[in-house]
Amino acid sequence: MYKYKDNEGLVDLHVHTTASDGTLTPTEIVAYAKSKNLRAVAITDHDTIGGLEEALGAGDRLNFPVIPGVEISVDHQGKEMHILGYYIDIASDDLKENLQKLQDYRRERNPKMIRKLQELGFKINLAEVEAEAGGPIIGRPHFASVLVNKGYVRDKQEAFDKYLAGGMPGYVKKEKLVPREGIELILRAGGMPVLAHPKYLKEQGYAQLAALLSKLKSFGLQGIEAFYPNHDARDTETYLRLAAEHRLLVTGGTDFHGANKPDIDLGTGTGELQVPYEVVLKMEELRSGADGR
Ligand code: AMP
Ligand code: FE
Ligand code: FE
Ligand code: ZN
Repeated sequence: MYKYKDNEGLVDLHVHTTASDGTLTPTEIVAYAKSKNLRAVAITDHDTIGGLEEALGAGDRLNFPVIPGVEISVDHQGKEMHILGYYIDIASDDLKENLQKLQDYRRERNPKMIRKLQELGFKINLAEVEAEAGGPIIGRPHFASVLVNKGYVRDKQEAFDKYLAGGMPGYVKKEKLVPREGIELILRAGGMPVLAHPKYLKEQGYAQLAALLSKLKSFGLQGIEAFYPNHDARDTETYLRLAAEHRLLVTGGTDFHGANKPDIDLGTGTGELQVPYEVVLKMEELRSGADGR
């Protein structure tokens, strides 16, 4: 069903900009997507819609379809889960207020991470990480960049593996919404909630994933990100099957972060990813209520 046909074109529905922890601006992303002959792009920054106005403006100017999105980190029984929201209303005050709260949680965490890294012997301060971020969303990739720039680690992956990943000595957990709150926030803003990169969940067996999806669907989940660079063919098959069984849409994207994830390119991921435009058509169909779900 989701076999890519040459003339249908491809999309990328999971993209980070400088508004969160990507390194290309929203305008640069739209221009890059257009230059790669994609059919559409969705901007999904972590916990912020700060890049969307610019992205939508660039889409208008360059005559390229841009879907306004967001990626909300939620706490799922102590483990991280990411919920993507598509077609959100960027004027929603409710959404703005709640995202501001999530940014406040980051602001509480950042000095604690600095202190831990200092205790590990690194000369690093908050101003350096803020400068690296260049905006209100400060994420662990920005800490990683500073550690790389100072020569403490060879690359960002080493920074995560040794210090910044969950459970590592530089990591500090931040307060988060729970899955139901993240899903409901997206729904209230008129958006379509989609479970991001299921491969990263603690649930891995089919039955476990099925139970989780049933629960998330009861909260209002509408889709699952089946196409993702870290999903192998078997994973993708599994997620397509789960989606069909739970009457969920499937989506896909690369999680492009520019130079912050140098192995991942827009549209193609590590080279093989193909997210068919048909995915967007199905999303629009659901939004217009055409398939009666
Ligand atoms: P934060 O939102 O500050 O918790 O940072 C989360 C971001 O850090 C993710 O979106 C990824 O870009 C990156 N990240 C998280 N875990 C890892 C990891 N183990 N290896 C590399 N990057 C990671
Ligand atoms: Fe990120
Ligand atoms: Fe994510
Ligand atoms: Zn992402």
